[in-house]
Amino acid sequence: MKRGIYPGSFDPVTKGHVDVIERAARIVDELYVGVLNNSAKNSLFSINERVSMIEEITAHIGNVRVSSFNGLLVDYMEEIDARIIVRGLRAISDFEYELQIAQTNSRVNPNVETIFLTTNLKYSYLSSTIVKEFASYGGDISHFVPEQLVDRIYAKYGRTAPQGK
Ligand code: ADP
Repeated sequence: MKRGIYPGSFDPVTKGHVDVIERAARIVDELYVGVLNNSAKNSLFSINERVSMIEEITAHIGNVRVSSFNGLLVDYMEEIDARIIVRGLRAISDFEYELQIAQTNSRVNPNVETIFLTTNLKYSYLSSTIVKEFASYGGDISHFVPEQLVDRIYAKYGRTAPQGK
């Protein structure tokens, strides 16, 4: 059984993330979406909210499981018996950092492989940070995140979706 994990903060999950999840789920037998519970990062959504939003939008993909984890990714991977890390690459700017983590992880556990999925061009500009910034100013985020989540994101800023969206 090829078990992979797609780790991230997913605060909140975007259409770019969903695209990576759908594609990665076709490559591995079972894909965990691992939501990092990082208390050092000031997150908009709680860990439980992030996990349940991803569960909701991936319910149609049979081999996806969503979980949260603390601490080192490689340690969590031992726990769930996963060998493959999936990461998305948007632009050159992602590359240097991603290469460093991938090499560090494989040094810590040589059985771990990292695979990179290049972003769908449609979403290459997209990040959770951009979504939050747009939403905080009442901008239209309907092209950036799954439809079911739009209202929940505006609600965090005490806003409703812009008229006609
Ligand atoms: P992190 O806090 O680890 O950066 P994110 O939730 O921002 O977590 O991202 C998780 C993963 O998803 C990373 O591999 C990131 O490169 C990838 N990713 C983020 N946005 C996109 C996108 N628009 N298209 C493809 N991959 C993306």
